Amino acid sequence: MKPDKRSTIVWLQGLTCNGNSHSFFNYPSIDIFSKSFSILHHPQIKTPFSIEEILASDKDIDFLVIEGALSRSDDILSRFDFSFEELLEKLSKKAKHIICAGSCASYGGIFRLQNEKKIFGALFNAKESGGFWKENSKVVNISGCPMHPRWFVETLLKLHFGDKLSLDEYKRPKEVYSYLVHHGCLRNEYFEWKVDCNDYGLREGCLFYEHGCQGPMTHANCNKILWNTVSSKTRVGSACLGCTEFDFPKKRLYETPKNMSLPATPYGISRRAYYSVTGVIKGFKIDRLEKRLYEEDN
Ligand code: SF4
Repeated sequence: MKPDKRSTIVWLQGLTCNGNSHSFFNYPSIDIFSKSFSILHHPQIKTPFSIEEILASDKDIDFLVIEGALSRSDDILSRFDFSFEELLEKLSKKAKHIICAGSCASYGGIFRLQNEKKIFGALFNAKESGGFWKENSKVVNISGCPMHPRWFVETLLKLHFGDKLSLDEYKRPKEVYSYLVHHGCLRNEYFEWKVDCNDYGLREGCLFYEHGCQGPMTHANCNKILWNTVSSKTRVGSACLGCTEFDFPKKRLYETPKNMSLPATPYGISRRAYYSVTGVIKGFKIDRLEKRLYEEDN
C-alpha cells in the first residue's frame, strides 16, 4: 500500500571518509528518491534541522542512517555535552529503522585493524564482542566500502512501502547479499580453466590465483547490477577485495593467500573436492584462453 507521507531520514556520521554519503549522492534517480523520503539532517548537505533540533523535537525518525565506525573516545566527536554513544542511544529510541551504511558502520571496516580500545569499529556486531548493539531488531546492515547506492535506496524503498525484508546472518538484505561477486563476472571461464591474468588492468584472465580476488567468497551483486550501470572492479581488471564481508579488510589485499601453494577454496566448496578438480583441470591447456582477446589497433 502506498504510504501517505514521505519517510524521514536522519543521517549520522561517526569515524568516516564520507564514502557512503558520496555513493548515495550518486544515486541516479534522486528525484524518485525524493518523492518517498525527506532528509531531516545530513552533515554533508544543507538540511532543515540540526541534530540538536532533532533531539529537542518530537519528530519521528523513520530511518536513522549511521555512516562510519563508532568512537568511544570523548576526545573525538564530542561536540555535544554527552558521548557519541549517548547520542546514538537517544536517536535510536526515536527511530523506526536503523541502517548501517557501509562496512565501517556495519562491522568496523578499517577500524577493526587497530587496537585502541576506545575506538571500536562496528555499531552492530553479531559475531564479535564489542559492538554497540548486540542484538537490535531495528538494525539493517548495508555493508560495502562503499555501499552501492542502489543497495541503500532499494532497501529503504522496500521498508518505506512496508515490504518484508529478508536478512542474512549478518543482518544484510538477502536480495543483495545472496549473490557472490563472482556471479556475473566476465572472467568466469578463466576461473573454471584456472587461467590467471598476467597483470592488473588486462581484459583476460582470472584474478583469483595470484592477484587476491575474493569474488568467489564475497557476498554482493556487484557484477549483476554493476557500478554506474556499466562496470565493476573485476571487469576493469582489479581484484574484488571482499569489502562487503564481516572480516574486511584482510591484511594483504592484493595477494592470494596460499596453503602449500594452493589458494583458498571458493565459498561453499569442500577443500578436497576443489583441489582434486583443480589438479585435473590444470592438466588442460587451452590456447584460446592463453591469448589476448584482441590486440588494440595503433
Ligand atoms: S576475477 Fe574474481 S570474480 Fe572474476 S571470475 Fe576470477 S575470481 Fe571470480
